[in-house]
Amino acid sequence: SKLKESLAKTRQVFVEKIETLLTGYRKPDEEFFEELEEALIQADVGVTTSMQLVEKLQKICKERRIEDASLLKDVLAEEVARILGEEDIELNLKGQPFSVILVVGVNGVGKTTTIGKLAWFLKSQGKKVILAAGDTFRAAAIDQLEIWGNRAGVEVIKHQEGSDPAAVAFDAMQAARARKADVIIIDTAGRLHNKVNLMEELKKIKRVIQREVPDAPHEVLLVLDATTGQNAVNQAKIFGEAAGVTGIVLTKLDGTAKGGVIISIKNELKVPVKFIGIGEKMEDLRPFAPQEFASALFD
Ligand code: GDP
Repeated sequence: SKLKESLAKTRQVFVEKIETLLTGYRKPDEEFFEELEEALIQADVGVTTSMQLVEKLQKICKERRIEDASLLKDVLAEEVARILGEEDIELNLKGQPFSVILVVGVNGVGKTTTIGKLAWFLKSQGKKVILAAGDTFRAAAIDQLEIWGNRAGVEVIKHQEGSDPAAVAFDAMQAARARKADVIIIDTAGRLHNKVNLMEELKKIKRVIQREVPDAPHEVLLVLDATTGQNAVNQAKIFGEAAGVTGIVLTKLDGTAKGGVIISIKNELKVPVKFIGIGEKMEDLRPFAPQEFASALFD
C-alpha cells in the first residue's frame, strides 16, 4: 500500500533492529530486554514509552512462561497497536452555522502545506471551505497559503504582513457566514520562542471567533514534523498546554526513519493523532488509521 511504501525507512528500522532481535531465537533474559529497549529508543519510540513497552513484555513473558524471544514479535505488535488505538478519530465538524479549525505549530513543520491539503480533503467531501491567513508574521506564509488555496480551489482571506491575526480571523468569520461555508481553517504564527505571546495571540483569535460561534474553535490542530523525532514530543507538550490542542497532524512520515515517534506521541500525550502527512502533494494527507499503521510497521 501507499502507506507501507511511504513508511519504508521507518519500517527498515523496525525490521532491522527490532525484528532481528526478536527472531534471534534467544532466551528473553535481562540482557535481551535491555537490547530491545535500546532498539526501541533508537527507533524513536522514546525513553519512557520504550521502558513501558519492555516492562509490559517482561510481565507477559513471566505470565505466559515464554522461553523464546521469537514468540514476542506478535506480542510487541499487539502492544504497539493497543497504544496507537482502536478507532479512527474524526474531526469534530459539528459547529453551527460552520466549524472553525485553528492550526498551530512551529515554522517549517509543514503547517501551510497541511492546511492546503486539509482544505482539499474537506472540499472533496463536499464541504465549502474558507482559509484564513492568520500567520501575518511572515509574508511568505501568506503567499504560500494563497498558492495552496488556489491549488485546492478554496477562498483565502488575507491581510497585509504584520497586520492583526485576530482581524483576519474576524474577516474570515464574516466571509464564512456570507458565503455559507461549512468550515474555516485559520493559520496561526508559529513562534514558539515566546509562549506568553503565543497564548495571548490565540486568546485574542478565540475571543473574536467565539463572538460569532460560541463553541468555536471546534478543533485546534497541532502540526508536528516526524523528522524531528523526540523534539516533536516536546513541542506537543508545550503547545498542548498553551494552545488547548485537540488533535495532532504528524507530517513528513515519508522519507524519515523516525516514524516510531508516533508511538510515543500517542502514549505520552493525551491528544489523538488525527492526520498524517506522507508526501508533498495535495492527496498526501491521510486520516490516521491506527490499525493500518500498526500493521504497516510490523508486517
Ligand atoms: P510551514 O513553515 O510549517 O508552513 O511549512 P510548509 O508547509 O511551508 O512546509 C515546509 C516543507 O515541508 C515544504 O517543502 C513542504 O513541501 C514539506 N512538507 C510538508 N508536509 C510534508 C509531508 O508530509 N511530506 C514531505 N515529504 N514533505 C512535506
